[in-house]
Amino acid sequence: MKPKLLLLDCDSTLSSIEGIDELAHLRGPDVYREVVEQTNRAMNGDLPIDQTFELRLQLIQPDADACCKVAMRYLENLAPHVEQTIELLRGRGWTPIVVSGGFVQVIGPLAQRLGIDRIEAVPLRFHPDGRYAGYDSDYPTTRNGGKAEVVRQLREELHPERVVMVGDGISDLETVGEVDLFVGFTGFVRRQQVVDRAAVVIDSFEQLPALLETA
Ligand SMILES: [Mg+2]
Repeated sequence: MKPKLLLLDCDSTLSSIEGIDELAHLRGPDVYREVVEQTNRAMNGDLPIDQTFELRLQLIQPDADACCKVAMRYLENLAPHVEQTIELLRGRGWTPIVVSGGFVQVIGPLAQRLGIDRIEAVPLRFHPDGRYAGYDSDYPTTRNGGKAEVVRQLREELHPERVVMVGDGISDLETVGEVDLFVGFTGFVRRQQVVDRAAVVIDSFEQLPALLETA
């Protein structure tokens, strides 16, 4: 049987926080300020995502310990109703997959809590003692259009019957055209571009099952 894929953004969707900001916070106010500045430059289109990605990680140098701390923050800030909703939809034949520009190791515990086996996100590398040792700069979500690329790869690999993407950001919006249904999520952040271009918008996971019945 062909799967039905439920692709879920992580930051500001499954959880209210932005993982990269939390990692930067742990490094003190100067690093935080500079990381936010890089993020804004990327958002304004002054810098391509792959360049800011590298710069921000160089500033933060996220080690295994910091990743564990932020992984806990994801769990403490889970979106309301998300656990029940995913369980319900799994029972109706949907396969949930996290598709994120965040980091595999940081998202791991949250995915596990939600019973999600597959995480499409950026792998970090650590030295044996836990120090930061870089990241997989080839991974699609380190660059513009990365999530659309992930969707295309999943289609080739799994030949799904349907593909639905749920997310709050511009990088999520880039999957419009690749997915069967794009659901804008405004539970934590409301971006006008996403609201304008999403086929449908929800502000709570509670609204998702009814939406997918008809999708
Ligand atoms: Mg997001």
